[in-house]
Amino acid sequence: MAGKYSISVLLVMLLVSAGLSGCFGNDSTYVEKGIPGGLTLACLSDAKYTSLVVEIDYEAGYMPEQSSTELLKTRLEQVCNKPQGIEILLTETNFEHEGQWSSSDVRDKSWDEKSEDPQTGSTLYWQAIFPSGQYANDGVLGVAVDASTVAIFGESVDDAEGPIFNRPSSEEIENSVLVHEFGHLLGLVNLVYQSPVDHEDEDHKGHSNNEDSVMYWAIESANIGNIITGQLPDDFDSDDLNDLAGMLSGEIETDNQLWTN
Ligand SMILES: [Zn+2]
Repeated sequence: MAGKYSISVLLVMLLVSAGLSGCFGNDSTYVEKGIPGGLTLACLSDAKYTSLVVEIDYEAGYMPEQSSTELLKTRLEQVCNKPQGIEILLTETNFEHEGQWSSSDVRDKSWDEKSEDPQTGSTLYWQAIFPSGQYANDGVLGVAVDASTVAIFGESVDDAEGPIFNRPSSEEIENSVLVHEFGHLLGLVNLVYQSPVDHEDEDHKGHSNNEDSVMYWAIESANIGNIITGQLPDDFDSDDLNDLAGMLSGEIETDNQLWTN
């Protein structure tokens, strides 16, 4: 009986993973690595994980802008309770990968490079890789592949720069895409919970319908430069923030967690 139960849980999780679209890696069979949002409570709460390390592994020529990593740190500090601090760990890496990236490639190569298990002692480790090459779905600038791992595709970010006076610039796009992907690790929007407010975009599941939120669906799109030519959002909106606060307080039920208090 126990075996049957495990299999049905596994199937449910696979179905949930397969339902994700857009900038999510949707061929996930890596249940033990969780789904994007699987470590949301581990980040929001300080009950077990009192510090967060964001490990950034980049290939030569693809180091993120300092403005991107500083912004990410600021945004995470605003929502995750980490009394021992949030640290950014930058490492140049050769992923030894040729051609386009699938979500499985991102997962496998990222896990090869992780300096620690995501849940190590009282420290939570999240990871972003900045590889050379493009994602197999060439409309995508970034992807969140499991509970602790995202990738940003620098070539595609550079190509997405706006056509008029280079607005938005590739640097601005990188700033927003990096925060956007970590927003998915925080479970936004509706990845591991159901918001009491209807702010998920109908046509782009897992994303906001508010163009002033960094979780707006078009932020992940290679076409962003043609969709928003002014200031790009680089922050969560009040609905996003209320969802996070609700999950932390328990007012909003949270699913698929690798850790709960
Ligand atoms: Zn997205």
